[in-house]
This record gives sequence, structure tokens and C-alpha cells, in this order.
Amino acid sequence: MKATRSWRYRLYPSRPQERELNRYLYECRALWNLLLERTKKQYGEMCKFPTRKELYLQTKRTRIFSQVSQNVADRLCKSIKGMRGRKKAGLKAGFPRFKPIERMRSFTYPQFGFRLDKKLRLAGIGDISIRKHREIEGRLKTLTIKKTSSGKWFAVFTSEVEKLPENARKLSLGGEKPAVGIDLGIESFAYLSDGKIIRNPRHLKKAALKLKAAHKNLSKKKKGGRNREKAKHLLAVAYEKLANRRADFLHKLSRTLVRGHSLIALEKLKPAKMLKKFLSKPILDCAWAEFARMICYKAEEAGCKAVFVNPAGTTSECSRCGKSRKKKLAERWHSCACGASMHRDLNAAINILKRATAGTAGSNACGEEATAPFLSVSALNETGSPVL
Ligand SMILES: [Zn+2]
Repeated sequence: MKATRSWRYRLYPSRPQERELNRYLYECRALWNLLLERTKKQYGEMCKFPTRKELYLQTKRTRIFSQVSQNVADRLCKSIKGMRGRKKAGLKAGFPRFKPIERMRSFTYPQFGFRLDKKLRLAGIGDISIRKHREIEGRLKTLTIKKTSSGKWFAVFTSEVEKLPENARKLSLGGEKPAVGIDLGIESFAYLSDGKIIRNPRHLKKAALKLKAAHKNLSKKKKGGRNREKAKHLLAVAYEKLANRRADFLHKLSRTLVRGHSLIALEKLKPAKMLKKFLSKPILDCAWAEFARMICYKAEEAGCKAVFVNPAGTTSECSRCGKSRKKKLAERWHSCACGASMHRDLNAAINILKRATAGTAGSNACGEEATAPFLSVSALNETGSPVL
């Protein structure tokens, strides 16, 4: 079994190299618009989409590396295929859109044309300085060059790594590690069923405040002015900083969790519930989905199992006797007639773990897609005997 992983590194192009990279973006965007126009025209006249080969022929005249321009045609083919699929399924579907330059943010070398040594060699562009903060594992496949809205450049490689088969993974475990249930909280980031609390990192809050200030600053600037451009840039920088810090925090946390546990249980949240639960903390908005995705793919590699359970009633149920009583949002403590007394999120975390380990919760509910845990809510067996 093979799996694809991606690796992102910061690039430091020289001035002339940056001009060349920007030219690539311009060319790719012009080509995208040209191909799209032809496609629309042909479809309008003959009710037939051009084939990939026909589109490739049109890419011949651009002044960029051939594989990069062919990849633009590939992207268009993919969007059209997606559009036809949606149409077939009876969903609303329109043509892909013409792109202004700010929407063309990346170009891709699908196979050849790049080499990674001390620097990154790009065919047609040159040797660009790169900060390789870690080694790439597996066989290199593609390279995408990206420009962020604040003007930084990144190289994103994908590689193919060998997935360990199930039994080999178990062997590599080396001794039984504990299982853990995780409840994502409101005042803290998460509560673990073993009583640990993971707080929202302070630097994340700080970055969020800066972002807010940058927003305010932008709204005060006159349209079309040079100061507005400056404020826009500052806002983009603040966004990126927050996103990077958040990703960093989630990476570290998920790594520690999968290394220390044989099983991790999380709630499977529907988007509606997710919104309700997390509306009150914009700092970490969408962090939950991201966190679940990271736990998923890291668990796979670390020989840990990720299980998503039905979230209904995890807060109201008593983790000791199983009796259910509704709690108001403001009620932070769980105390039950049976004598159980603990933080409400700890109670929920224990319930989540119980559901994951009860009965036949044997399926690894982990999907390839980032949103997989939220797509369907199939209840796991909730009536099994408690294991704690
Ligand atoms: Zn109880």
C-alpha cells in the first residue's frame, strides 16, 4: 500500500529569480484563460469538450517549461471532469472561471524539471535557495511552487511512502500504550480522558489580536490609496502568521498524542454542531477539522488507531453510571447522584473513549479526506460495557 505525503519548504529567490517566478504565474494564468476560452467556444459550437491531447497542443506556444504548461491543461481537464460529474449527479455546476492574476497562486512540475540538492534547481528558472528544515521521505513525485498573499514563496513536494500493513504496525508498537478520549473544549483547547488539559496557547491568542487590529486598520484606509495597499499587505502577513502558528501547535500536539497512545477517540462532528460549538472561539476556528485530519494521518504512521464516535449526549451522560441529564452551556461541572464529580469536559472525554472501545468499535473511521470524519455520522455501539 502506498500513501502520498506532502512537504513544504520556504524558498528565498533572488530578485531576478522572483521576476521569473512571477512571469511563470502570469503565463500560467494567461494560458488557463486561453484554454478555458477555447473550451467554452468549442463546447458552444459543437457541444463537445476538447480532449486532453487537443489542449496540450494549445500549450506549445507558451514560454515556460513544457511540463508546467501541460499541468495547466491538466488542471482544466480536472475541473471540467468535476463539473460534468456534478451535473450528472444533478447538482448545480458551471464552467470553471477565468482567473485574474491574484487567483493564480501556484504552478506545478508534475514529474520532471526540478532537482533538490542544497538548492532547488528549476528548469528554466535556476537554482533557488531553499530552507530544508527536514528530509523528505519516500519517492519524490511532484513539485508545486506557491506564492502566498503576502508575497512569500514556497516549494511543496509530494512523495510516495510505503504504508505499513496492519500487523506490521502492531509489531512496531513495542508494548501496549494507553488509549485516550479527547473532548474539544471551549475555554481550553481540549480535555483528555486521563485528566490532562490542553490549553489554548497564549501566542495564538496574541496573533489573533494582531489580526483583528490589522483588519481594523485596513477598514480605515481610503479605497485605491497606497496606504490601503500597505494595510492589505500587513493583514495578509498577520493572517499567515496566525495560520502558521496554529498549524505548528496542531502538528506538535497531534504528534505527541499519536506517539503516546495506541488508540485515540474523537467526536465525529457534523458541520452544524461544529459551528455551534466553536462559534464562540474564532481564534481556533476550523482547527478542529485540521486537528482531526492530522491525528488521522499521523496515527496511521505511528501505529495508533483513530476512532470517531457518535457525539450525541457525550456531555449529558454520566461517565460513571451512564445516567443522562441535560447541562446548560454555563454549567462547567459534572456532578451526579452516583457520586461522580468532575469537569464537564473530562466527563465528555471519558464518554468518548468509552464509546470508541465499547462493543465492535473496530473500524478505523479515519478517511483520506480532510473532512472525512464529518461527512457521515454512523453511530458506533454505545451500549457496550464500560471499560474504565
Ligand atoms: Zn452518575
